[in-house]
Amino acid sequence: MLMNNLDPDVAERPDDLVVYGGTGKAARDWPSYHALVRTLTTLADDETMLVQSGRPVGVFRTHEWAPRVLIANSNLVGDWSTWTEFRRLERLGLTMYGQMTAGSWIYIGTQGILQGTYETFAAVAAKRFGGSLAGTLTLTAGCGGMGGAQPLAVTMNGGACLVIDVDPARLQRRVQTRYLDTVASTLDEALTTVANARRERRALSVGVVGNAATVFPELLRRGVEIDIVTDQTSAHDPLAYVPEGVDLADAPDYAASKPDEYTDRARASMAKHVEAMVGFLDAGAEVFDYGNSIRGEAQLGGYARAFAFPGFVPAYIRPLFCEGKGPFRWAALSGDPADIAATDRAVLELFPENESLARWIKLAGERVAFQGLPARICWLGYGERDRAGTRFNDMVGSGELKAPVVIGRDHLDCGSVASPYRETEAMADGSDAIADWPLLNALVNTASGASWVSIHHGGGVGIGRSIHAGQVCVADGTPIAREKIERVLTNDPGMGVIRHVDAGYESAADVATTRGVRIPMGES
Ligand code: NAD
Repeated sequence: MLMNNLDPDVAERPDDLVVYGGTGKAARDWPSYHALVRTLTTLADDETMLVQSGRPVGVFRTHEWAPRVLIANSNLVGDWSTWTEFRRLERLGLTMYGQMTAGSWIYIGTQGILQGTYETFAAVAAKRFGGSLAGTLTLTAGCGGMGGAQPLAVTMNGGACLVIDVDPARLQRRVQTRYLDTVASTLDEALTTVANARRERRALSVGVVGNAATVFPELLRRGVEIDIVTDQTSAHDPLAYVPEGVDLADAPDYAASKPDEYTDRARASMAKHVEAMVGFLDAGAEVFDYGNSIRGEAQLGGYARAFAFPGFVPAYIRPLFCEGKGPFRWAALSGDPADIAATDRAVLELFPENESLARWIKLAGERVAFQGLPARICWLGYGERDRAGTRFNDMVGSGELKAPVVIGRDHLDCGSVASPYRETEAMADGSDAIADWPLLNALVNTASGASWVSIHHGGGVGIGRSIHAGQVCVADGTPIAREKIERVLTNDPGMGVIRHVDAGYESAADVATTRGVRIPMGES
């Protein structure tokens, strides 16, 4: 999975060990990468390798139920948790930015965010547009590793989408992997094409090269009819966002040589970018932050109304989190797409009553091009993930699948993150910044038998703004793997249920009662 993260078809910049999300890396440097591979290939079944920010630092004798790898990435003590301090330490070679699934080796390419993005746009459609995006135009920016899912998620919901990116290569890459339909050569051409699609209620996505800080205000000024506005540029890291007036080719050197000046310019641009988003909000559009911290950066850039629109979790996703639902994913180590097709069929058999899941699996099978190892994502909840995981393990054991399957999830999950601008924004009890939950999540997954467990800081929204944990299990078909999977995939989404019960969400309390999640404070 480490190698898969860095496969040229998967990683955004494999030569620099960067997988996605600005500078999210899989290993600290190349010597660390080689040491990781050497250690992983010689590790015994009762040993555990410890990884400190992308570098293997020790191997200890543990036991068969213990994870084979424990990972801690990018963590800093509270008062030191700033990008400036992080970069100073990074320059000294002491840390690396692990994002969420880059440094924890469970990135599966743009598909990894696709279903979440699809569900988010489906929720927008349900809330505002009668259940479909047909006849609507969505404006967004950022067509990178994760942001590239947006155009396909919009067209899967029947809508038209205009996506702005400063980097033509990123747009081309999404066309090649079928996430984006076409790239226009000018803004005018793009606008004509998407306006026609909107009028004719056709699903179509169009990319155009430009800086969002320039193009968003320009579209607002022109009064273009836009129904939905969001953004997924790499705003979580001001040194990864390209400021207005800076040439794409010059940006990396400029950011490296004058980080403070670059940061100020990036934040000033984000302030303009977000001001235009608020302009669209005032004009009646549905506007939301898609988890990249752009509101926080725009506020630092001096724009006072940056938080006028909500983040996507409180707006659309939290009810799913209350049921322990989140981005469950798996990859076929055989490399054979037929193995994923077989698991797709198994999921449909396991949950015949879930229509939206069936629609997703069908659309994904038809429209998602695999990057690297064939993989699938689908959002499953408490009481569902363990059933899917044990079934996959049985399929490996019986020989129905050709090789083991790796089962994991994004760190963006129901009970594994503290992130006040994203997963825990506007919690009912105000507990947004309480970070005990992701730590408990990592501990319980370690205690339950996950194959590798990780604790990261700063993923998604940037240094100082989040703490989150991940787990991955290897389904190798053995009885012991089955037992581990059953426990991990029950307890891991169970964290989402208890986290939301604790915060006072009634629907989570109902899930706990009906599905038997034990809540000590509710017992007499
Ligand atoms: P990425 O680095 O692969 O892509 C970022 C893209 O933004 C690049 O294509 C870049 O050219 C473009 N860009 C930068 N500045 C721009 C500007 N001024 N105008 C137009 N385009 C610009 O990052 P990614 O993996 O796609 O992630 C994007 C953001 O989403 C990150 O902040 C990441 O942390 C966040 N994220 C959100 C979620 C979620 O679930 N909502 C999940 C993962 C990541």
